[in-house]
Amino acid sequence: MDINKNDCFTVHITDMRKDGDGIGKTDGYTWFVKDAVKGDFIEAKATKLKSSYGYARLMKIIDPSPERVECACPVATRCGGCQLQALSYRGQLEFKHDQIVSAIERIGGLDADIPPLIGMEDPWRYRNKAQFPVGTDKDGRIVTGFYAKRTHDIIDNDDCLLGPEENSDILNTIKLYMYDNSIQPYDERNHSGIIRHILIRKAFFTGQIMVCIVINSRHLPHSDDLVKRLDKIDGMSSISYCVNMKDTNVILTDQITDIYGPGYIIDRIGDVEYRISAQSFYQVNPVQTKKLYETVLEFASLTGEETVWDLYCGIGTISLFLAKRAKEVYGVEIVPRAVRDATENAALNNITNVHFFAGKAEEVLPEEFKNGGTHADVIVVDPPRKGCDERCLDTIAAMAPKRVVYVSCDPATLARDLRYLCDRGYILDKVQGFDMFPFTCHTESVSLLIKA
Ligand code: SAH
Repeated sequence: MDINKNDCFTVHITDMRKDGDGIGKTDGYTWFVKDAVKGDFIEAKATKLKSSYGYARLMKIIDPSPERVECACPVATRCGGCQLQALSYRGQLEFKHDQIVSAIERIGGLDADIPPLIGMEDPWRYRNKAQFPVGTDKDGRIVTGFYAKRTHDIIDNDDCLLGPEENSDILNTIKLYMYDNSIQPYDERNHSGIIRHILIRKAFFTGQIMVCIVINSRHLPHSDDLVKRLDKIDGMSSISYCVNMKDTNVILTDQITDIYGPGYIIDRIGDVEYRISAQSFYQVNPVQTKKLYETVLEFASLTGEETVWDLYCGIGTISLFLAKRAKEVYGVEIVPRAVRDATENAALNNITNVHFFAGKAEEVLPEEFKNGGTHADVIVVDPPRKGCDERCLDTIAAMAPKRVVYVSCDPATLARDLRYLCDRGYILDKVQGFDMFPFTCHTESVSLLIKA
């Protein structure tokens, strides 16, 4: 290969990496090119060379891919939020489908006929939660937006197209309140200033909105004025501030003071209601979450007689969704606060046949199984990206439920875990992908394993 660093060269982009970078080859040498789309013919400049692969910058699109589209957002390539805006929505669904198929086949060594992803009718404005950092630009103006990829530079953007339209109104109202009351944004370099982040959540089903201002101070100055201004926005239901005076990247602390409303908003998925506070974990795309949970319910094939375990249950959303169709549901979740939310949500919905455990799935499940007091007809797992611990999978195999429903946000660890269970008496029956996060590379799926 005779391309050196800083050389320009032409290359066909023939594939895409799981982080969204384009992949092309010259003389068998592999290039990764950010912002290039599968099907593009481009001019690129070599930026970093390793022995078997290199990185290059997109310089010019000579012949665009048929799936290439104009980015709708003006900061799409600078902001760290979206990776796939230059790819048509159909192309994005295909890209994610390919990720799932190739993991199942190559990592899992499994055969499955995987239907196309279930996408969104309108893939924009789906996010119900955003945390906007607040800072100052070089001219001293207050800016809110998102961090540029891998940095803490704030890209000024009040209207992220993934969030609801109200966000822009809310951010501008808060900026004006800051100007009028001379309240400074936080500056992480010298730990000065007051306003650090603005958290906004909207319950899509009920329309209720929550705002939480994260501050580097014990109190929010002129909070009455802020409430008066924000209250004019339709749906405003809860306003609070969160004290975070630490020099840290962690956004929220548990020191939250409510200054308007009850400190939570209410949303609904299907016929289950959820109470969501500033710190609660809650799925960010409610439209797709409903479709995903309906598939979990379908794969679980409940008749009302089953004992179900829901491992990695978060605030119990899947447990509660299944409870009305099962005899009993046991949820396991590592974060104690989420377990508290889960228990409260069960009470809110008058659901009495669920029980939640705070602890690690790989410890609680073996413990309960060893004690002999439990069995499972169906086990649902929804682990974080690293997948399930082997102790958890071994116990699932030993408990031998008729069906295992695996919800996954990482095709590679999914394929590894499916293989593990298929080597221990299960057959992979179905895999269905979902687009939970359009324009990003996140790939979600639900798989059904049945006892051989
Ligand atoms: N099923 C839920 C949440 C899934 S996110 C929903 O649909 O909303 C994954 C969850 O697993 C998180 O809540 C995380 O806190 C939890 N978790 C991570 N490691 C865990 C472990 N070892 N045991 C139990 N829960 C764990």
